[in-house]
Amino acid sequence: MKHLIANMKVAVFSTRKYDQKYFDKANAATGHELVYYENLLREETAQLATDCECVCAFVNDKLNRNTLALLAQGQTRLIAMRCAGYNNVDLEAARDFGFTLVRVPAYSPHAVSEHVIAILMALYRTTHRSHNRVREGNFSLEGMVGHEVFGKTVGIIGTGKIGALVAKLFLGFSCKVYAFDMCKNDELINWGVQYEDLDTLWSMCDIISLHCPLLPATKHLVNDETLSKMKQGVTIINTSRGALIDTAAAFRALKSGKLGYFGIDVYEEEDNLFFEDLSSEIVQDDLFMRLTTFPNVFITGHQAFFTDTALGNIADTTLSNIAEFESTGTCTNLVS
Ligand code: NAD
Repeated sequence: MKHLIANMKVAVFSTRKYDQKYFDKANAATGHELVYYENLLREETAQLATDCECVCAFVNDKLNRNTLALLAQGQTRLIAMRCAGYNNVDLEAARDFGFTLVRVPAYSPHAVSEHVIAILMALYRTTHRSHNRVREGNFSLEGMVGHEVFGKTVGIIGTGKIGALVAKLFLGFSCKVYAFDMCKNDELINWGVQYEDLDTLWSMCDIISLHCPLLPATKHLVNDETLSKMKQGVTIINTSRGALIDTAAAFRALKSGKLGYFGIDVYEEEDNLFFEDLSSEIVQDDLFMRLTTFPNVFITGHQAFFTDTALGNIADTTLSNIAEFESTGTCTNLVS
């Protein structure tokens, strides 16, 4: 990737060692001054960025009006999200304070689409439970009868970059694939994907995978009412954003058997949990902890994106976004 030369001071929030590794490598080409913070960006931590022209934030950082007001009192002009989604940024406040907001629109849709299949296969073939049993010398197959994906009816909600790849993967399993999106993808239609309205999709599908963004209109898209329209024993996979699902409603549906399998990489209250090692602490989220006890629930901690390719692309694109803004005052990956 061609980089423009720049040397902005950047406060990089929510960083872990793996982020630093990829950012340091990519920064050899851009020469920004990167200051890494493990802290989430919040009102309480915004002051860490006082002398930084740029703030680099991730999925669970909260850029609400108060946080942005504090950033505006310092040097910050640019907010560089190192993810695709920007649902945690108050866009109106960002505009009011004159910030430029940029993002990484795509870093590896393959990473996420393949993780959907990983979650589904774990649920359908209990591979995680087999692995544990075999390590303990337990070779019993009791309680592990699986399901085949072949021939299932699948519904994809949101057929953008990730959803389109997921649709193709399911076509590879010889599934019947239905989709819902306001923008229809002609390539998918040619491949045999059938666009339907949401009510039809809820009622027809054995497996439903969510790939639309979190917006006011999509919050709790899966709720008591929509669950009631689904097939008995339906499988739901969510790798998009946690709040697309009313988790309490999903919990009720799991208990009643309406929801047969529930695979999630994202959770609506995940910012209190994910990306932290809480193994020595008492987790206070009762709903989440109860979900972890269900045999038909499989949860990963927002790791669908987490591949070598994606981390490299995130670092490259974020740093070149910053360099482009520094050189031109705008950016190809601007959020308008
Ligand atoms: P995208 O912008 O390419 O596609 C989103 C699609 O959703 C678009 O086609 C859009 O028309 C459609 N859409 C918008 N509103 C809709 C609605 N109400 N109903 C149905 N469809 C609607 O985005 P993408 O790159 O495919 O990413 C999809 C989502 O995946 C992102 O919003 C992000 O939240 C999530 N994501 C998660 C991870 C992870 O690690 N778990 C990583 C990257 C992205």
